[in-house]
Amino acid sequence: TEPRNPATHGSAASQALFDRARVVTPGGVNSPVRAFHAVGGTPRFVTSARGPYLLDADGNEYVDLIGSWGPMILGHAHPEVIAAVTRAVSAGTSYGTPTRPEVELAEEIVARTPIEQVRFVSSGTEATMSAIRLARGVTGRAKLVKFAGCYHGHVDALLASAGSGVATFGHPDSPGVTGAQAGDTLVVPYNDRAAVSDVFARYGEEIAAIITEAAPGNMGAVPPEDGFNEFLAATAHEHGALFISDEVMTGFRVSRSGWYGIDGVAADLVTFGKVMGGGFPAAAFGGKAAHMERLSPAGPVYQAGTLAGNPVATTAGLTTLRLADAQVYAHLDRTAATIAGLVGEALTKEGVPHLPQFAGNLFSIFFVDPTEVPRVRNFDDARSQAQHRFRAFFHAMLDGGVHLPPSAFEAWFVSAAHDEEALERIASALPAAARAAAA
Ligand code: PLP
Repeated sequence: TEPRNPATHGSAASQALFDRARVVTPGGVNSPVRAFHAVGGTPRFVTSARGPYLLDADGNEYVDLIGSWGPMILGHAHPEVIAAVTRAVSAGTSYGTPTRPEVELAEEIVARTPIEQVRFVSSGTEATMSAIRLARGVTGRAKLVKFAGCYHGHVDALLASAGSGVATFGHPDSPGVTGAQAGDTLVVPYNDRAAVSDVFARYGEEIAAIITEAAPGNMGAVPPEDGFNEFLAATAHEHGALFISDEVMTGFRVSRSGWYGIDGVAADLVTFGKVMGGGFPAAAFGGKAAHMERLSPAGPVYQAGTLAGNPVATTAGLTTLRLADAQVYAHLDRTAATIAGLVGEALTKEGVPHLPQFAGNLFSIFFVDPTEVPRVRNFDDARSQAQHRFRAFFHAMLDGGVHLPPSAFEAWFVSAAHDEEALERIASALPAAARAAAA
């Protein structure tokens, strides 16, 4: 059967659910970006998903380019993942005692990455929060260096934005974050070696760690320039600080070893999430054994979790990692390049200035004029986009049955299930979307 066309079929059922949700949930959603604030309109309430497609409450089908914001590299409801999870669920869902899948997932992650030990948590936010606590515990120092435009979850200390100036003390990015929490965070522009050197020259003795997305995807895809991560690790070490690589988004997505598999820079601490939970709440942080053994119960730095290493979540993650073989990663790379190419062609045809950018198979289309911004290197570059073009483009794609991330500052996510048919549906939605973006 032909998929229903959202443009003619409408979204009354989603609207009705959204209206109910807004009464009982702030803004109607459980994570802000889902609310469509950046693009306007009604978020689609999804009832099921299969392969590369989402089905909404009105029966509309969409090619999904969100992939649950990263986890779903095999596509939705992969039969082998569902079977493994079903077996795990039938055996019991949580025990509060150690289990075998935790050991196996930990071994799998340790084997693929530079870390020697790993601790499981339930969200990427917890992973980065715990990693910075450990870095502070290990070094006995308080300050952190982070980059403007890098997102590491809603950890107080990491919800700090830069003031004006090259390298500045953070100021709270949200009410509820105290000046003290944000004030220990130094915010610098991404890909800016001079700013990093400067901040270490001034505060080196007080800096516990530098944290960075291994390759940023949260301001759109903005890859590190050649040698940048290596430079960060070296600078941190020169000053007795730790280098923390946040691979929550890139981990096990851009390669079987994450971004580490691409640039080979071994961080002191690494955070993971998304793919390693196979669509369940699971995340992790890890590092050299000497650092990790400072964690309780081996050491004095406290960290814990009721559902950490949950047997259903770890089974889903382990099954996903084992199924994601070399062909899967080759397919993700190819599919990302194909989609970016199709979008580029359609926009060029309508004369819409744009710039595709990749961080491995994470990619985004920036609505900047490449004659003015030949490369998006940092958050300021990303913010110079013509956001009204993205909004129009997004809605025309949605009407055409393609669900993009509802913000111009997000990477697009593909899966092993994005096949020729899904690509054709994207291609057929593009001409109208490019015309909308041109307007
Ligand atoms: N770090 C990065 C790089 C992320 O992209 C995210 C989420 O998008 C997080 C941390 C936070 O993870 P979570 O949403 O699971 O708390």
